[in-house]
Amino acid sequence: MTRPAQVILDLPALSHNLSRVRQLTPGRHIMAVIKANAYGHGMIRAARALQDADAFAVACLDEALLLREAGISQPLVLLEGFFSAAELPLLTQHRLIPVIHHEGQLAILERSRLAAPLTVWLKVDSGMHRLGLAPDKLSAVWQRCNDCPSLHVAGFMTHLANADYRNDPLTLLQVECFNQAVAPYSGLHSIANSAAILNWPQTHGDWVRPGIMLYGASPFADSVGENHGLQPVMGLYSQLMAVNLFKRGDRIGYGGEWECPEDMAVGVVAMGYGDGYPRHARSGTPVLVNNRRVPLIGRVSMDMICVDLRSQPHARCGDPVCLWGASLPVEEVARSAGTIPYELLCRVTSRVHIQSNRE
Ligand SMILES: *Cc1c(COP(=O)(O)O)cnc(C)c1O
Repeated sequence: MTRPAQVILDLPALSHNLSRVRQLTPGRHIMAVIKANAYGHGMIRAARALQDADAFAVACLDEALLLREAGISQPLVLLEGFFSAAELPLLTQHRLIPVIHHEGQLAILERSRLAAPLTVWLKVDSGMHRLGLAPDKLSAVWQRCNDCPSLHVAGFMTHLANADYRNDPLTLLQVECFNQAVAPYSGLHSIANSAAILNWPQTHGDWVRPGIMLYGASPFADSVGENHGLQPVMGLYSQLMAVNLFKRGDRIGYGGEWECPEDMAVGVVAMGYGDGYPRHARSGTPVLVNNRRVPLIGRVSMDMICVDLRSQPHARCGDPVCLWGASLPVEEVARSAGTIPYELLCRVTSRVHIQSNRE
């Protein structure tokens, strides 16, 4: 590694966060959500650190196959189900559990001859209006599933649109809609994402589906993971690669948007949007230099950002920089960039070297 941009993962924090989920949802089963490369943390590494989970949830077949190839043997749920009949042999061969969210998928199953039994979850649209079977279609779908030889329905799931808004009336309406829709049928129930696990105990059901909280970040706009007993897993680090002195009135970076209010030192950090640092992070976004906060100044470039070093006139090239991590919540950086921690964690790019404290 030459350029100092790197991610350091705290893997024991992942298992700590999983035990926090257990503590909040006693007696429930946990489907740990590790889609999208485990929110940027590395899917296989995350699956190993979370081996006490009862199952893993990924988006699709390709993600599940990577886990099976790595020897991960837990039940794997495909949250988007399958996209074509060609996937079915691999689903049965690897004992994968697709979510059926659309009648088109059921039609594919009816036309196919399954080589082995297939377990599925049925997804109900209880009001988010993205994926899911309309409640009034459920009785026909249930009948068609029962008429499919080798098809076994494990249970019913739904997804909440506003669980991260603490008093939003939609959540309880969705729960009521879901409970009513599935009441006539036998099967397990799964509703809760991280926000619901933390804020809506009446959604916990049989299986919970935590994602972001496993990585130590808060799903709410007004808190950070630590407020919920969570520990951040990902730290994004780099170093100062240059320290330059400028005069009052000098303009910094592309577009010259930031103007030096006095003669001052400006630090250049080897980190930019090409590494996944958000380009829309505003001037003033906190950055840690030598573990102390300094403000980002000017526009984020592909490979670099600039920071105001007036509070640290003795900072030097090579000094350590933290962009987010245990001492600087990713939630705060996300807010300052007009986005959510999910996006920042997911989009760290492959040129950033990843190191974890257990490898
Ligand atoms: C991604 C996802 C989750 C996890 O959501 P978090 O907010 O990260 O906890 C749960 N359920 C479904 C269906 C998802 O797609």
